[in-house]
Amino acid sequence: MRFKAAVLNGVGKALEIDELDMRPLQAGDVLVRIHASGLCHTDLEVIQGSLAYPMPIVLGHEGAGVVEEVGSGVTRVRPGDHVILSWNPHCGHCFYCERDLPILCEPFRQHQPQGHLFDGTSRMQRNGNEVHHYSVTSTHAEYTIVPESGAIPVPKQIPFDRACLIGCGVMTGVGGVIRKAQVEPGSSVAVIGCGAVGLNALQGARLAGATKIIAVDIGEDKLERARGFGATHTVDAAGTDALSQIMDLTVGRGADYVLESAGNVQALRSSVEMVRPGGSVVWLGKVNVDTEVAFRWGSLMGEREMVRSSYGNARPTRDFPWLVEQYLAGSLKLDELITRRIRLEEINGGFDMLARGEGIRTVIMFD
Ligand SMILES: [Zn+2]
Ligand SMILES: [Zn+2]
Repeated sequence: MRFKAAVLNGVGKALEIDELDMRPLQAGDVLVRIHASGLCHTDLEVIQGSLAYPMPIVLGHEGAGVVEEVGSGVTRVRPGDHVILSWNPHCGHCFYCERDLPILCEPFRQHQPQGHLFDGTSRMQRNGNEVHHYSVTSTHAEYTIVPESGAIPVPKQIPFDRACLIGCGVMTGVGGVIRKAQVEPGSSVAVIGCGAVGLNALQGARLAGATKIIAVDIGEDKLERARGFGATHTVDAAGTDALSQIMDLTVGRGADYVLESAGNVQALRSSVEMVRPGGSVVWLGKVNVDTEVAFRWGSLMGEREMVRSSYGNARPTRDFPWLVEQYLAGSLKLDELITRRIRLEEINGGFDMLARGEGIRTVIMFD
């Protein structure tokens, strides 16, 4: 079959809208017609070259759509199902899957950096030449093929543009708080950096029953937005001593939990200073993999726990339907995350906006 996709042919180049051919489904494959897909900062990192992947490649890892066809052996989804895609599918029986760490699944970590599916090959071609998959999802396309564990059926009531956000930004932020930090009711939670992931960490803290939810960012517009997602207090890190403000808000102890989602060295350092002794820090943001981050040794004292999480301890088959239910019940804000809807052909403009830090999420609509 032939379909349209946004193809990245090299670092720093504009994405090209091309016609690709999909090879036949293999055992365990699920063919999904994409209805909506978000533009995430990690896609931008591939375009800018701070994450290296083989080219040409189809980016996009935050997608939702409808199952068109399934390969042999697929039992958990069927044609017609509405699905949210997971960018971290797993095999279910490797060293890490057996140890309940599917996020570290070995076939995933072996083949994902090569731009392949779990059998070490691609399903996409252009003029007979291989086109690579990004993170086993490639959702900036009309169609994609993913392994069964990457297509999570969800209730049909949720619109696709809202649903797709759950696949990365929402899962990472809400999951960072609820699944990774396991924030308890009555806790104080500070969130550094209020982009898409940070806003979701804020609403995750609200869902967890935290009573003091402190948003830290620069600029009143961002902090105002943060209040809409559940922040009870805000700290403008520009020109003020953010640490002393956090201390004032937490009776001098520091926050019970700190979620870092700003993705810079200063935020990583501050996260440890802002947590109370015995508290937990979850690092959700990213800096370039070669960047060294130094900490004041004293800031690590006091039985503080620091943990890095890339997907909020996601168990997509457990968490995606739950997040959809939270949305349908009015407890999870998704409508407010979408600041722009575009056609696939407008994708380069969407990434330009993301690079400038404008808006929260841009979503490509395929209908
Ligand atoms: Zn993402
Ligand atoms: Zn595995």
